[in-house]
Amino acid sequence: MAQQHINVPPENHVSVLDGQGWVGLIDTLGTESTIVNAARVSFGKIKTDMDERDVKLLHYLLDNRHSSPLEHIVFTFSIHCPLFIRGQWHRHRTWSYNEISRRYTEIDIEFYTPKHLRMQAENNRQASVDNPDFQDAELRAMIDKQNKDSLALYEKLLAGGVCREQARGVLPQNMMVTFWGTVDLNNLLHFLSLRDSEHAQWEIREYAAAIKKLIKPVIPNVAAYFEAKGQPW
Ligand SMILES: Cc1cc2nc3c(=O)[nH]c(=O)nc-3n(C[C@H](O)[C@H](O)[C@H](O)COP(=O)(O)OP(=O)(O)OC[C@H]3O[C@@H](n4cnc5c(N)ncnc54)[C@H](O)[C@@H]3O)c2cc1C
Repeated sequence: MAQQHINVPPENHVSVLDGQGWVGLIDTLGTESTIVNAARVSFGKIKTDMDERDVKLLHYLLDNRHSSPLEHIVFTFSIHCPLFIRGQWHRHRTWSYNEISRRYTEIDIEFYTPKHLRMQAENNRQASVDNPDFQDAELRAMIDKQNKDSLALYEKLLAGGVCREQARGVLPQNMMVTFWGTVDLNNLLHFLSLRDSEHAQWEIREYAAAIKKLIKPVIPNVAAYFEAKGQPW
């Protein structure tokens, strides 16, 4: 059977972070018909195609936060992101996760090097400011050097006989990791509302916007519902 490395993006993926990260759609369970069928289970009826009445019902469910029918659609994504984004992502407890382990492998270590740096916002400790005049070339070179020095130290530790599980402690937050995440549509919409938001960090917003692109063909009427409400999809 053909094997592929998990660090290779799947066919259906969207690149983010200036081509340094990606998110791919690995698997989908259910369609929009599944949502309306789940809502109508109490009547004992099943339909296979979406008609106008179904779209109306879908809007009714979304308007009234009748959310449990949305839980019958499930998505599995493969995500390649910096460690600091993985930390934010894993706060979402309603996802199921599996990740490549640095206890098993020391190969394919890569680092995120931002293409440009943002400045610290003055009035909000959690926020940043995009300043096109920010002279960041020297600072970005320092980040790149630090990434490479960390990897060199990691390799030195391994060569000196240190176990992988301890040596990895010197690898920085910019290290890229790859994980699978599975989530139902209801909890994914919650994730997207928090992470495709101006309050969220630019890097995780990139992933949230990419997820919207990937799932739009599966849930076109749900996407259109949010677009009609002025929320970009
Ligand atoms: C802009 C932004 C800034 C943030 N800043 C910080 C920060 O400074 N420090 C920090 O620690 N975190 C921070 N977070 C993380 C945040 O506090 C949440 O942990 C994260 O957004 C996950 O949200 P959630 O719990 O709603 O999602 P999920 O874990 O996916 O849960 C979805 C929903 O399920 C329900 N749920 C899940 N688990 C439980 C439970 N155990 N008990 C009851 N209900 C549950 C809740 O209704 C929850 O909203 C930030 C998040 C954002 C978006």
